Amino acid sequence: PTYQAAPDRYGQMNYRYCGQSGLMLPEISLGLWHNFGHNADLTLGRKILRRAFDLGICHFDLANNYGPPYGSAEENFGRIYKKDFVAHRDELLISSKAGWDMWPGPYGNFGSRKYLIASCDQSLKRMGLDYVDIFYHHRPDPNTPLEETMGALDQLVRQGKALYVGISQYKPEDTEKAYQILKAMGTPLLIHQPRYSMLDRWVEKGLLDVLGSNGIGSIAFSPLEQGLLTDKYLKGIPADSRAAKDGRYLKAAQIAPEKLELIAKLNQIAQERNQTLAQMAISWLLKDPRITSVLIGVSKAEQLDDNVAAIKNTKFSIEEIALIKTILDA
Ligand code: NDP
Repeated sequence: PTYQAAPDRYGQMNYRYCGQSGLMLPEISLGLWHNFGHNADLTLGRKILRRAFDLGICHFDLANNYGPPYGSAEENFGRIYKKDFVAHRDELLISSKAGWDMWPGPYGNFGSRKYLIASCDQSLKRMGLDYVDIFYHHRPDPNTPLEETMGALDQLVRQGKALYVGISQYKPEDTEKAYQILKAMGTPLLIHQPRYSMLDRWVEKGLLDVLGSNGIGSIAFSPLEQGLLTDKYLKGIPADSRAAKDGRYLKAAQIAPEKLELIAKLNQIAQERNQTLAQMAISWLLKDPRITSVLIGVSKAEQLDDNVAAIKNTKFSIEEIALIKTILDA
C-alpha cells in the first residue's frame, strides 16, 4: 500500500539547531546499523522507517558498511526510499560515512582521499541519491594527515555530493584540529558523532567543551548502550533481543550481574520519574544543550513510540542528577 505520511508528524518532535549552523536535527534520530541488512526482515524495516517519519524523525543515519553484508543497509534503505520517501526527499536528512573496512586492498579503509571519495560515490549509488545531507569520516586514522581527510570532506561538499560534513569517534584534540582545517578551507565542521550514554561518559572529559566552544553540533550514538539501558534484560535475555540474536557487538557475557544491579537502580529512578528506563536514558542525554540529537536504533516499530516519548521530560532535578551520578560512579 502507498505510504501517506502522518500530517501531524512535525508536532510530535522537537528540533534543535546543530551547533551554530542553520540546520536543525530532530532530538531523536534513527540509525540503520542493525536490522536493515540482507539478513533482516525488510517488511519490518519499511514499517520502522514509516513510523519514524510519522513521529517527526526526519534524520536517518547510515554508513557504507552497515549490513551485513557491507553495503546492504544502504541498498535496502534505497529500495524503501524509492517506494515511500522520494516525494519527501527535501524533508529528510540522510547521512553516510566511510572510515572502517569496506572493500579489499589499500583503498577501502581508513582516511585517504582516494577511499572517502570513492566510498561516497558508492553510497550514493546504493541509496539512489544525488547527494547525502551529511557525510562523515567514521573514525580517526592515525596514518593519514588530517589535511588530506578533511580535504576530501571539503571536496565532497564542493562537488555537491554532501551538503554538510562531520566526524565520528575523534578525540577532543583532533576534533579541534579538524575544525580548524575545515574552517580554513571554508567548510564548517557541522557535527561530531560520538558514543555517549549513561554507561559511557567519555565525552564529558573535554569533547563536549570543544564542541560547545566552537559551535559544533553533536549526535550521540548507542544512547541505550545497544539495549542494555532498558528494562529488557532485567529478567534474563529475551530471545528476540540483540544480545540473543546477534553476538557481534552486544555479547550475552557482557550482561553481568553487577551491571544488571546498576541497571535495576536506574530503572527505579526512571519509574519515579514516570518514564521507562529507555526514555530516561535518552532524556538524560538531551538535558545538555550541546547534544543536538540522540541516535537510537530499534528492532520494532513500538520501540520508537517508547523512545520518542522521552522528549516530553528532559528536565532533571539537582537531586536526581546527583543520585544518578552516584550510581554511575560506583
Ligand atoms: P541503541 O543504544 O539505541 O540500541 C538500539 C537497540 O536497543 C535496538 O536495536 C533494540 O535492540 C534496543 N532497544 C531500542 N529501544 C528499545 C526500547 N524502547 N525497549 C527495549 N529495547 C530497545 O543504539 P545502536 O547501538 O543501535 O546505535 C544507534 C545508531 O548509532 C546506529 O544505527 C548507527 O547509526 C549509529 N552508530 C554509529 C557508530 C559510529 O561509529 N559512528 C557506532 C555504532 C552506532 P533489540 O530489540 O534487538 O534488543
